[in-house]
Amino acid sequence: MAPFFIQFRMRSSSPSPSVPEAPRFVMVPGQCDLTCIWCNYRSNPPKEPMDFGRLLGQLEGLYAQGVRRVCFGHQSSEPTTCSDFPELVLQAHGMGFQSISLYTSGLRLSELAYVRRLKSCGLSAVNISLPGIDETIADILLGRAGATAAKLAALEHCASEGLQASATLMFVRPALSGMRRSVEGLRALASRWPESIRFQGTLLSPVVDEDPRRYPLFWPSYGEVAWTMRDIKTSAPDFKLFSSDAPSCVAGRIPGLCSERQTMPRIPYVKPAKSCGRCRFSRQCPGVFAPYIKSHGGVSPASFLRGVAPRIPDVKMLAKQIRELKEP
Ligand code: SF4
Repeated sequence: MAPFFIQFRMRSSSPSPSVPEAPRFVMVPGQCDLTCIWCNYRSNPPKEPMDFGRLLGQLEGLYAQGVRRVCFGHQSSEPTTCSDFPELVLQAHGMGFQSISLYTSGLRLSELAYVRRLKSCGLSAVNISLPGIDETIADILLGRAGATAAKLAALEHCASEGLQASATLMFVRPALSGMRRSVEGLRALASRWPESIRFQGTLLSPVVDEDPRRYPLFWPSYGEVAWTMRDIKTSAPDFKLFSSDAPSCVAGRIPGLCSERQTMPRIPYVKPAKSCGRCRFSRQCPGVFAPYIKSHGGVSPASFLRGVAPRIPDVKMLAKQIRELKEP
């Protein structure tokens, strides 16, 4: 599935002769087979049933508008749980789309035969997100035992079959203490297929959350992100972390952090009063999203310089907290 924070970033680039056109997202309403804590953690079913004819019509409409790059996958949906998905890829390929990509949990792609089938239908690229490669913690955050191993197998299968495979490490708070090892693990994997596997990090974009317990549990402080990025940079100096809305005072001080500096819709932003008054970015900057301030206090530039070591999570406690969050 493609969580909102990733779609936002991809959508925002505009076509130009040197930059490829950003793909247009098409939702294929399969039920997601994971309950990632940053996305569909309560396992909500897709809002619409699969309607093959409507999806074909949507693709034809996009092609008629001049769109040539399409990406299947949308919030809380998983295209690969629809039995007709390979046929949809085949139809899109037949229409003439030049790039057909997929946002996916990756579970089905741990089957090599399924990857081969999608490739033969015309799929060109796959995007998979994961909170790290430490299976104990990552599987808890993904909501399913074995999910991390399946994602890593999916990346390997895609690369070995010649698909472009992109892995996004999710910088959720409980995953930060193991993030350097995760980056090193993905780097070792990517070194086997340097033309096919890419990886990067992503900071969660703010969402309007019906359950405020999620913010302090899963949104790291910028000081923790700074510590983590400094730790990662000791062994992977080129690693990049993307954020939709980190303000300039944050983005300029955390190594490797790239911010779009775009505010998210329907999210309240506030300025941490003391530092903002003298800031040269103050006129354009909306500040930091309000629940961040509530969970972590103000933005302290000193904490970006020093960094704050993230806590190593207590596995049993984390599993319990997630169980409680998932209760209706
Ligand atoms: S206005 Fe405040 S939040 Fe925005 S960049 Fe300046 S110090 Fe940071």
